[in-house]
Amino acid sequence: MRVALLFAMQAEAAPVIRALGLVPGAHSVDERFGFVQHHGDYRGLQIVLATNGHDAVHGVDQIGTQATVLNAYLTLTANQPDLCINAGTAGGFVKRGGAIGDVVISNGVVRYHDRRIPIPGFDAYGVGSYPTLVRPEIATRLGLREGSISTSDSLDATPECHARMDAHDTQAKEMEAASIAWVCAKLAIPFVALKAITDLVDGGLATETEFLANLHLASERLCDRVVAFLDLLADEPQVFALQGDA
Ligand code: SAH
Repeated sequence: MRVALLFAMQAEAAPVIRALGLVPGAHSVDERFGFVQHHGDYRGLQIVLATNGHDAVHGVDQIGTQATVLNAYLTLTANQPDLCINAGTAGGFVKRGGAIGDVVISNGVVRYHDRRIPIPGFDAYGVGSYPTLVRPEIATRLGLREGSISTSDSLDATPECHARMDAHDTQAKEMEAASIAWVCAKLAIPFVALKAITDLVDGGLATETEFLANLHLASERLCDRVVAFLDLLADEPQVFALQGDA
């Protein structure tokens, strides 16, 4: 079985690359964009792990939906995986029981909370509502919190963004999942997101400070659950029932 693991940031992916013993790809899919790929076999699973790499102009990770959608398209069309996992970090919500280090698994639909287009038809198009794999047994077996994941291109949020996230009982606010889910829906590749909480959106601390303080811890916790997820996939593929899912 082929599995694609897509991360935005190198720091989020580094523990997984180490744990799975993945090696850098011989050549970049397209070096003009700076995307990075690692490959390897893990317990019979053929893994491709892609990160968005660094922006040559600004010297930072190419986070957000723009780089992600292109990286996802290039990675998924080149590797034709049976499953695409978007792993990363996210903001959680105290008011919905979230805590630093929790790992949230997508619960059926991922949405955008900042693409507001109040024209009939375009409003729903903007929200997106792309499908994700739903297997409640996976969350139970791996101790994951099942929840609604919501995407925008901003680390902060307007009051309208908050209202939309509240309406969908959002457990994880991040910057990539919906864009990958859109590509996966077009390519008919089953999609699931795993997001470790680095910061609490309604916790009273500045998101950027809390994010940096907890990035290492959350990435280790994320790695632990991503490896457990792959172990379950290797040992009991029937739990995932991937054939025909797409
Ligand atoms: N200053 C940081 C930038 C991280 S931005 C740095 O460069 O080190 C946040 C990244 O983590 C995005 O890829 C996003 O998917 C995720 N993320 C974590 N917490 C988030 C939050 N509260 N809101 C949106 N995205 C968040």
